[in-house]
Amino acid sequence: MAAEMKADSAKKEAAEKLREAAAETRQAWNYRMIGFGGPVQPSPTTAEAISGGFYYVEVKCRRCSTHSIIDLSAVNQVHRKPDTPIWKLEASLRCRHCSEALRGRRPAANIV
Ligand SMILES: [Zn+2]
Repeated sequence: MAAEMKADSAKKEAAEKLREAAAETRQAWNYRMIGFGGPVQPSPTTAEAISGGFYYVEVKCRRCSTHSIIDLSAVNQVHRKPDTPIWKLEASLRCRHCSEALRGRRPAANIV
């Protein structure tokens, strides 16, 4: 019984430490991206961002500089696993605005 209680306590402690680590990762990434403009790697996972209340990522088209907002919860539901680092989304980001002008070709976008 004592061993089970000790194990439960250790699990709760570990979960709390993981939450703290995720919060530190989010904060460091936000400071780096906002303060220095990157680099985008390393980044928190989409789940870590969402758990901290960060549901959106701003992206900018490399061609037309249009800014867009990506909903991370929608990305998780449709395309990616929750443990996907945010920087890995960048490879699949395309500008919808340029799509019509370039007849289907869609230039890449960067996370800002
Ligand atoms: Zn564009």
